[in-house]
Formats: sequence, structure tokens, C-alpha cells
Amino acid sequence: MTNSNPESHDDQDQAAPIQDARPSSFLRDIIAEDVRTKKYGDAQVQTRFPPEPNGYLHIGHAKAICIDFGLADEFGGKTNLRFDDTNPEKEEQEYVDSIQADVRWLGFDWERLCYASDYFPQLYEWALQLIKTGKAYVDDLTADEIRRHRGTLTEPGKDSPYRTRSVEENLDLFIRMKQGEFPDGTRVLRAKIDMASPNLNMRDPVMYRILHATHHRTGDEWCIYPMYDYAHGQSDSLERVTHSMCTLEFADHQPLYRWYIEQLGIFPSQQFEFDRLNITYTMLSKRKLLQLVQENRVNGWDDPRMPTLCGIRRRGFTPEAIRTFVAAAGVSRTNGVTDVEMLEHFQRDDLNHRARRAMAVLRPLKVVIDNYPEGQSEQVEVANNPEDPSAGTRQVLFSRELYIEQDDFREVPPPKYYRLSPGKEVRLRNAYFITAQSVQKSVDGSLVEVHCTYDPASRGGNSPDGRKVKSTMHWVSAAHAISAEIRLFDKLFSKPDPYDVAEGQDVLDNLNPNSLEIVAGAKLEPSLANATLEDRFQFERVGYFCLDPDSIPGNLVFNRTLPLKDSWARIEKKAGA
Ligand code: ATP
Ligand code: MG
Repeated sequence: MTNSNPESHDDQDQAAPIQDARPSSFLRDIIAEDVRTKKYGDAQVQTRFPPEPNGYLHIGHAKAICIDFGLADEFGGKTNLRFDDTNPEKEEQEYVDSIQADVRWLGFDWERLCYASDYFPQLYEWALQLIKTGKAYVDDLTADEIRRHRGTLTEPGKDSPYRTRSVEENLDLFIRMKQGEFPDGTRVLRAKIDMASPNLNMRDPVMYRILHATHHRTGDEWCIYPMYDYAHGQSDSLERVTHSMCTLEFADHQPLYRWYIEQLGIFPSQQFEFDRLNITYTMLSKRKLLQLVQENRVNGWDDPRMPTLCGIRRRGFTPEAIRTFVAAAGVSRTNGVTDVEMLEHFQRDDLNHRARRAMAVLRPLKVVIDNYPEGQSEQVEVANNPEDPSAGTRQVLFSRELYIEQDDFREVPPPKYYRLSPGKEVRLRNAYFITAQSVQKSVDGSLVEVHCTYDPASRGGNSPDGRKVKSTMHWVSAAHAISAEIRLFDKLFSKPDPYDVAEGQDVLDNLNPNSLEIVAGAKLEPSLANATLEDRFQFERVGYFCLDPDSIPGNLVFNRTLPLKDSWARIEKKAGA
């Protein structure tokens, strides 16, 4: 299971050209045009990335971050990181902190760190202004009644009986809402727009609700909280955001975004929508990811199987590869689905260039070289990265007793099995040719060790007489190897569309029960004892790996970022053929 083509040590990725890291897009064209026509005078391009601090960022957010920061940067503009923290029941400081760390890790820095909650006083003042101009009213209907009055896509809504309240009464009630006179859910402030609008978002949307909840930043100062639609556009405007980019599901909210700004006569930020990033076998919803964490279906937000930025970081993914992937996936005005193989392809491509090669045997089988002198050992020189000569070489110890993969030996080889079997000669990578002679078994019949002979003339991995072998295998010296735990990952969901469920089932029913495999007692070349969390490795023939933070000296844990085989390159080749 460890690799696709164990016969060849040249099983490297097909390196694809790294693409321009800037996504070409209609968004760029819009901004370029606005800059050209000086739509905002001499004001610089200003964008924002506006996460709600109710969970950890995932790779879908990486797309929004690359667009918001990337485009502003291209035009010499600036980007704010703004927390859309209008929902105190679900928001926490832990998320605020993780989001900042993740944005920085992706390689971006913000102009200003902002919070929608900083604008609560201004938003309140503006609400009073809308009441005074007859554009907002306090409604006493229950949430349920409001829903029933809203109508449907085919039927207009009905006016609330409270819609005609006087300005004085609305002002009085709204001020008392703020002063905490009323229990949760008893009243709301609504914009007075049009209950017959074909756009449901324009049917007198709620602006404020009563919620006696402690906010992670403003504490108990407020017991009314603005709704997303009322807070978002005004926050953009306050920050003089010129281009407010968000995902397509907000397109229907755009008229409302504009309505508030026009009624208030404030800086005219403009909203533009682009497609969400969807990836096969991947669930990108903070709410559902939180459920995975809370129900212990994964080991926390940074479980290496999670599509969160902290998860894929722990798994060994790099910001460079994610940015390249996001650029290649592109930006459009219709939602689509991107193959997860494409993400993996860009990650392999990146790691292929940067990862130091090392030898590690996941499931060890002892090999004894009977004609190698006992107690002797020698150094063989190995390239650290054949893709990068500047990475240099290192010395690896060879000795009489070695470990190879259990998979690399068969006592009775099946047809076309070219690895080690009795009487068969193979190459030990960078070392010698060996031939299996006999096996030693325990009383229960299980294999204990394989006895071999080596050809001293084949030092370095080639025989002077030009003899060919069909297989090259990795190995470690038994006496010198270090033991480690290896974590192998498979897709977290077993269906390309995780939401493809039978009636009555939930997306979590599509979790892949075999997404984590822990291999204890792997044997690694000793240089890996010095690995740091930043290092990236290619364990020859087994995949790309990095050290896991669970490691302690003497008990190292390595995560497999990805196996070597690149199915995307194959898909592309096939498509081209
Ligand atoms: P989720 O659906 O995972 O809960 P969200 O949209 O609620 O995400 P926000 O914190 O509101 O999360 O998102 C911040 C920004 O990231 C928004 O502008 C949103 O449009 C964008 N974003 C969220 N998910 C994706 C995605 N899959 N692809 C691209 N952009 C996304
Ligand atoms: Mg959201």
C-alpha cells in the first residue's frame, strides 16, 4: 500500500510547471477599470477579509484570502483583517487568535486589524438615523410570525401590524431595547423596504435582535446585536473598502448591501461575488467541521485529515503550494468542484523541489548479509535531493544487518514480482546488489529474517560487469536505525461529494472509517532524529513526510503528507492524450 511503483526508485512526480501565483480573474478586470476611471478618486484600492470568529479557517477561506490580499497588493492597495463578530453565542477568542495565525502562515499581512464590534456604537447611531427617516421600525412579531409573514419566492409577504408605528414610538422602543428592558426574542428592529420585493432579503430584513449574551470583546455592554447584513456593508464603508469581495451566496444580499449604504449616504463600498472553492472528498463548512471536533470524530481542529489550514499545515502542506493551487483553481462567477488530486499535485510538486530525501522502513523485515563481515559498517554517500544539487549529500551507514519493507520480500513471488525473493538479485539503493539465499522462521512459521549475500563489487549500486537488476529498494542499517511512529492518512470522506447521502443520512455518514492508520515501530535512518517541525522529507518510495508536534525526543512521530503517486498528473496526461 505504500507506493504505486515499488520497482523503480525513480518514482518521482512529473514536475508540472508552477503557474503564475496570481489568479487571472474578472475581479482583477473590475478593479483595473475602477482604478483607470478613478472611480474612487485618488483613494487606494482597499479590500478586507471578513471571517466570523466561529471556527478555524479552512482551505476555502484560503481562496478568499488570496483574492482579498492578492488583488489589493497587485494594485498597491491595502487589506484589513476584520472579524465579523456579531454573533456572541458562537464566537470565541480562540478562533480570533487562530485566524490571525493562519492568515500570516499563508503569507499575508493586514493593514489594520478590525472588529465589527468596534463599530457597534456607530451602527447603533445609524439605526437611530434610519428610524428617524422612517426607514426602520421596531417589530413585536415573534421570529416565527416574521417568517410566516415573509411569503415565498412565488408569494409576496405581508406587512407586520407594527410596520406603521410612529417614529417616536420606534425611537422609544429601540432605545429601550438597547437599555435591556426586554427579554431575548421579544422585539427586533427591521428595515422598512418592501414586503412584496421579489428578493426575499429586501422584505423588511431584521437589523437588530435582542440577545443578552456576553460578547468575547464587548462583554455585557450590549444586549442588542446587529445582523450580518446590517453590520457588513456599513463596516466596509467605515473602513473605506472599495472592493468588497465575497462568495456567490451573498449575491442576493447585494441589493440590501447597497440599500443601507444609500439610505445612510456613506462611503459607497461595492460588493462583488466569486465562486466558492469546493473540493472533491472535502467538506468545507465551519459548522460541520466544528461538529467533527466536538463529536471527537477527528483529533481536534488541527487533525492532519482536516481541511482546516492548521490541519493541512500539520500534515505538511506548505503555504506556497496552497497559493499556487488556489491560483490554478481560478476564480469564476459560477460554482464548480475542483479535484482534490489537483491540490495534491501542486503540493507534491512543491515538496519534490524542497523535500530532503531520507530512507525509512515502515514495516521492517530483517535482512542479514551473511558474507558481510560481522561488526563492520561503512558509509555510503547519498544525494539529499536529486532535484536540487545545492542540497548536498550525506553519509548513510551500511552494515551486515539491515531492515527492508516486508512488502519488498516474498518467499514465493507472484508473477511479475521483481523485488526480493529467494535466488533473486536486487539493488539496495546507493549501496550494493544483494541476492536472497534463505529465510529463517519462528516456530509458528512466521518470517523472522532473510539471509542474503552481497556483491562487494557493486558498491554504489552498480555492477562493473553491467549486470542489471529489476528492482531498487530502500533500507536502513538495523543497528543504527531509530524507531518512530508513522501516521498515514487517507481521505476523510469516502465519496467525491461528501454531501451525497441517502435520505435520512447526514454528511458525517460519509466519513471514511479508514482515514487514519498508525504504524508503530517504523525504522528510520538516524539523521531523522534531528528533524524539526519545519523540515520536509521524502521518504524514498514511501511518500512525503514531516515531523508531527506530538513528537518527543526518543519517540518521534511523522505524518505522511502525501504518498508519491501523482494521480492528477495521470488524469491530465490522459485528458491530453
Ligand atoms: P463556512 O461556510 O465554512 O462556515 P463562512 O462563509 O461562514 O464559511 P466566513 O467566516 O463568513 O465563513 O468567511 C469569511 C470569508 O471567506 C467570506 O468572505 C466567505 O465568502 C469566504 N469563504 C468561506 N468559504 C469559502 C470557500 N469555500 N471558498 C471561497 N471563499 C470562502
Ligand atoms: Mg459566513
